[in-house]
Amino acid sequence: MSVASRAIDAGNRIAGQSVPAASGRTFESRNPAHASEVIGVFPRSDATDVDRAVRAARDAFPAWRATPWPQRAAIILRAAEVLEANKEDLARLMTREMGKVLTEARGDVQEAIDMGKFIAGEGRRAFGETVPSELRDKWAMTMRQPFGVVGCITPWNFPIAIPSWKVFPAVMAGNTVVLKPAEDTPLCALRFAEALEEAGLPPGVLNVVFGYGEDAGAAVVEHRDVAAVYFTGSVETGRIVSETCGRLLKKCSLELGGKNAIVVLADADVELAVDGALWGAFGTAGQRCTASSRLIVEQPVLHDFTERLLERTAALRLGDGLDAGVDVGPVINETQLRRIDSYTDVGRGEGATLALGGAVARDGALAEGWFYTPTVFTDVTPAMRIAQEEIFGPTTVVMPVRSLDDALAAANSTQYGLSLSVYTNDLRTAFRAINELHSGIVYVNAPTIGAEIQLPFGGTRNTGNGHREAGGHALDEFSEWKSIYVDYSGRLQRAQIDTE
Ligand code: NAD
Repeated sequence: MSVASRAIDAGNRIAGQSVPAASGRTFESRNPAHASEVIGVFPRSDATDVDRAVRAARDAFPAWRATPWPQRAAIILRAAEVLEANKEDLARLMTREMGKVLTEARGDVQEAIDMGKFIAGEGRRAFGETVPSELRDKWAMTMRQPFGVVGCITPWNFPIAIPSWKVFPAVMAGNTVVLKPAEDTPLCALRFAEALEEAGLPPGVLNVVFGYGEDAGAAVVEHRDVAAVYFTGSVETGRIVSETCGRLLKKCSLELGGKNAIVVLADADVELAVDGALWGAFGTAGQRCTASSRLIVEQPVLHDFTERLLERTAALRLGDGLDAGVDVGPVINETQLRRIDSYTDVGRGEGATLALGGAVARDGALAEGWFYTPTVFTDVTPAMRIAQEEIFGPTTVVMPVRSLDDALAAANSTQYGLSLSVYTNDLRTAFRAINELHSGIVYVNAPTIGAEIQLPFGGTRNTGNGHREAGGHALDEFSEWKSIYVDYSGRLQRAQIDTE
């Protein structure tokens, strides 16, 4: 695997070959810290290219499905090892292409390594059930079967980790895959696919089609030979994907947005809560589905918490994530920069206090990229748009509350339900919060980010449609159950009738 630093001219990966878009059209991936730096040029694919990739996946399916689970697992384990051997180079590439600071980029690659090793273990598990039959001399059991060709559509904020969360379990279960990665991070996705190829994944088992969502992404969802769609992205796009899948009666798994909150109660360790808030709100420049974009603080500690938060936020260093000492990198692109900035106007307009930041950063080298100053609003109430809508940038809001009841109600007051956290030293309060916070993930005395791959990941309400990725049940998303009855009695036996 080569991770060169000059711009590359890539094709789609179809049946192990590099293939340009049939239309000949291309798009560029750029470094968000230095917008003039082109990372690579990629095919701008459409339905014709997607069809080609689906056909390759369909052709590869029978042999891959017939490959024993432990052999498929061995390839996935080797892919994790290839990622591990190239971790530093991949992390550097990720910082250049996506912008997150290097330590976080290493974490992103590590998550994919963890996922590969974890899922490879399923090769010798993939347990089914054997249950008693109600009839004599009859056997009843289950086994997993793959869907066939599945489509995976991924966002740019975890450009290697999120593809790994979908592709590893999908191929482990015997499916073949068409991956349409985000247009902002195509090279990371290509390198991930190359790691699988280097590990021995047969051609056509994983195909990668680059391009924009409305043509390449939509074509994956609509293709009649794509049996299931796994999508991570925004609520707006998720709704479109879900509607199409509904019409076509396809399985559709959605991992969507978040408006996550840290609740800081009066008895909390305030310094620990500030540590968590800084990491949760400004890690990945706030571009995490689990970002701590709301800080709900009980009155007795509000002043202390806010003062320390503002002081430490002001000290964060903005810059190229490859530079030592940088805490916050750029945001992904100019459109996102403008969108984040527009929310600063929204917050001001609805009466919140802009306590810090709130501007596009243009000092020195920052003007070469898409940087936004870490931003804190105070005096924010639950009904405000900046407390309800996903900004997806380095903006967080401080919301004062008067009681635990108010804090839990505020935390639960958005359309999202991904990750909520509570800081308290009271065991009873902690368990009440665990029980009453309506989200897929709850943290106690830790920020809203930091999920590990061995527990399920996903959210309630509009964060998704009830599915979970990762964790001990990861395969459930990517396989279907087959129930098998073997009657060795030699006579007709009728269930529910011949039971006496
Ligand atoms: P997005 O919805 O704009 O794009 C996601 C992917 O969908 C991209 O690959 C895009 O090309 C594709 N796409 C766009 N339009 C499409 C269409 N009509 N049909 C099919 N595919 C289409 O999201 P984004 O800006 O890339 O990512 C940010 C969003 O992702 C945020 O809302 C964030 O919260 C969410 N996210 C969620 C999770 C999670 O696990 N819950 C994780 C990371 C990011």
